[in-house]
Amino acid sequence: MNLDRALDIARESRAQAEADYFDHLRIPSVSALSRHAGDCRRAAENLLGHFRRIGFEASLIEGDGHPTVRAEWMGAPGKPVLTIYGHYDVQPPDPIEQWVSPPFEPTVREGRVYARGAADSKGNHFACLKAAEYAMAAGGPAINLRFLVEGEEEGDSKVLPAFLEREGGSLKTDFLLIDDGSFATEGQPDLITGLRGIVYTEVEISGPVVDLHSGGFGGVAPNPFNTLGHVIAGLKGRDGRVTLPGFYDSVRKPSPEELASWQRLGITERSLLEEVGSPALEGELDYPLLERLWARPTLDVHGIRGGFTDEGTKTVIPATATAKISMRLVPDQEPGAIFASFAAHCRSLATPGTRVTVRQVGQPAPPVLCGTDHAGARAAAAAFEAVWGKPVSYLRSGGSIPVSVNFQRAIGAPMVITGFNQPGAGAHSPNEHMDLEYFHRGVDFMLRYMEELARL
Ligand SMILES: [Zn+2]
Repeated sequence: MNLDRALDIARESRAQAEADYFDHLRIPSVSALSRHAGDCRRAAENLLGHFRRIGFEASLIEGDGHPTVRAEWMGAPGKPVLTIYGHYDVQPPDPIEQWVSPPFEPTVREGRVYARGAADSKGNHFACLKAAEYAMAAGGPAINLRFLVEGEEEGDSKVLPAFLEREGGSLKTDFLLIDDGSFATEGQPDLITGLRGIVYTEVEISGPVVDLHSGGFGGVAPNPFNTLGHVIAGLKGRDGRVTLPGFYDSVRKPSPEELASWQRLGITERSLLEEVGSPALEGELDYPLLERLWARPTLDVHGIRGGFTDEGTKTVIPATATAKISMRLVPDQEPGAIFASFAAHCRSLATPGTRVTVRQVGQPAPPVLCGTDHAGARAAAAAFEAVWGKPVSYLRSGGSIPVSVNFQRAIGAPMVITGFNQPGAGAHSPNEHMDLEYFHRGVDFMLRYMEELARL
């Protein structure tokens, strides 16, 4: 591949790249809602068509869920194989009324395209796809490429993990790119060196066999909602400390170098407050902000159901109360041990006359560290620096990309986690958007990254 030629083609093709990307954004591939199953397949087939058109061998991996797109070009014998992960599914767009323009009608305002999935994560893999297209047009990529783009990242991935377990060992891969991150600061490319893991649970408290009249039974009948409040309050102190026995025992402190490099990122309490929009932040105030976000575990309640929540009054002692509670984990916490401790602790907080049942929802994800002391990361850093004119920063993400663990286990190649979109892109929020300059620079990054990897 002639790099200058490929970069020229990319520059000349910006309008077409945007048109194709916007068509991809028009497909409401919401994996969580079964009524969008057909749209998820349509998004997969759309990618399939693009990959075939540019000369890749492409197919759909089927299984118990939305298909994964597999696309390969192995025309550079003797050169490394880069496997690129992405996901075409998106979060539900609610609350719709808060969108300035419709979530599935991509609309450009001030150089940014607004649409659900623009940043998380269609912009990422579409930039990679376009780079592959221009590399093909400029004589063929300098390395071998494999894309695995799944449709279940926003929910519970099944098809891709099952495929990796089945065939991961036979997928020759020298480098892995998990392309589902984003820039943490404006104009500053970064590589993610670690992800938090997650254990997601449902805690159900049951008491009376049926809903009871609180006038007839209040004062004697156990109330599962009161107990649930007690359980939740017993899981985390006002100081932000999670109170499960042993919860922090295996938490690995980030190195002094890592902490110092986070300090230099310039992410301040003020900038975070602006994004959060609340009058103050909370948490373990004796830890620096970014350590709390990236290297400290946490516990959050996501929803509570049961009893009466409609308009007006109904004096009921509900038979059950349920809460969804998750924990974000950090190295070297182990999801199985944490869940066991959590379940035991919840049960110990039960009040007389109530029963506590704790279930896991979805697959737990262990925390991930991927390091930067390998050729794949150095190549990515060089490519980013060439595009953005400044050295990359290394940071972690507080979120989880569960499939990265499947990749690590099944393939084990050095892994780079990054993404191309600007900070504050509104992933999972109304008015999600991608800065188109970032999108095009994502394409340029990929072209240069392939060149850097070919030199190894
Ligand atoms: Zn997401």
